[in-house]
Amino acid sequence: VWADVPLGPPDAILGITEAFKKDKNPKRINLGVGAYRDDAGKPFILESVKKAERQMIEEGLDHEYAPISGFPAFTEASAKLALGDNSPAVAGGLNATVQGISGTGSLRIGGDFLKRFYTKSHEIYFPTPTWGNHTPIFKDAGLTIKPYRYYDPKTCGFDFNGALEDISKIPEGSIILLHACAHNPTGVDPQPEQWKEISKVVKKRKLYPFFDVAYQGFGSGCIDKDAFGLRHFIADGHTLCLAQSYAKNMGLYGERVGAFTIVCSDKKEQERVMSQLKILIRPIYSNPPIHGAHIVAKVLNQPDLRSIWLKEVKQMADRIITMRTRLRDGLKKEGSSHNWQHITDQIGMFCFTGLKPPQVERLTNEFSVYLTKDGRISVAAWLFSEKTRGIVIASSSSSV
Ligand code: PMP
Repeated sequence: VWADVPLGPPDAILGITEAFKKDKNPKRINLGVGAYRDDAGKPFILESVKKAERQMIEEGLDHEYAPISGFPAFTEASAKLALGDNSPAVAGGLNATVQGISGTGSLRIGGDFLKRFYTKSHEIYFPTPTWGNHTPIFKDAGLTIKPYRYYDPKTCGFDFNGALEDISKIPEGSIILLHACAHNPTGVDPQPEQWKEISKVVKKRKLYPFFDVAYQGFGSGCIDKDAFGLRHFIADGHTLCLAQSYAKNMGLYGERVGAFTIVCSDKKEQERVMSQLKILIRPIYSNPPIHGAHIVAKVLNQPDLRSIWLKEVKQMADRIITMRTRLRDGLKKEGSSHNWQHITDQIGMFCFTGLKPPQVERLTNEFSVYLTKDGRISVAAWLFSEKTRGIVIASSSSSV
């Protein structure tokens, strides 16, 4: 029956983990994974999450279905987390928020909704480069992918002028994808003043902004700072949509908990949009998984758990920043005369090293150091040992 089904290539990122697992070199290192590790190289279970789970057991929470759109305690808290506690949009009930299957599923709900109801354009503009899964997510939703300049390989930084120039030429009404913070794979974000300029140009071109919020808190360690661009866009009068993920900032990778929000113009519009989001979700997965949503709702809504969580997010972000400094210092100490300033200028889970494909290949083939072909390494997955003055371990667990 399936004789004509061609063999597909392995996933660009998960394929690296497969190759890593097959490598017999005891010094092998996997820097392809996008998952945070603690000082012992182990997955980090947040204390706030453990406390929430203990409560869930004590309360004897059942396993009944969630509503199609998820638990209100979860969706309301998610909208406030992204848009701000004092967001006029949330206070006015203008957000149509549904629980999604982590960031990926939330992006896909957004893509499907835009394809079905956004009549102005079916073209979505991505920063170059962007997270590898963005293309198949939005292509499979039926949208056409177009690029705008973002990363400057010469400086390993943000190509602000190139981005503005390209965005100012995007056809009116098109959709534009923006990473809210800790851009993946480059770790390069606009500064607040640059966000303001981007917002102006996006408005002038009448583009529809779609924010991907996969790392809130992971960039700077501060939830509000990492939401600056998104909140500025709303304050600037944009109506927009956003996809959130709790994979990284709560360490809930496998729980698949996220949210999709459309900020609407008025309450009637919100009701119509919400009704259609539910109609879209029902035949795909009927209703979302409950465990992760209960955890997130407890952590965000209980002041004691929330304050523990805020400290833990900062702790994770700070550790990544420390790893960056150590890597840069280590390279210098080992005699590299190359300018590695970008390692500490970039933020978030990943460092876009600037290594070229042949260099990446050599690192993998000769030294069993695994990273993506574009030179991206996960800074979060390292254990830096003072004793060996080197990177000695990284987890073999899979992440996307
Ligand atoms: N967006 C970006 C930019 C990401 O880097 C990721 C995770 N790598 C996601 C969305 C979605 O992740 P998840 O589905 O695990 O929440």
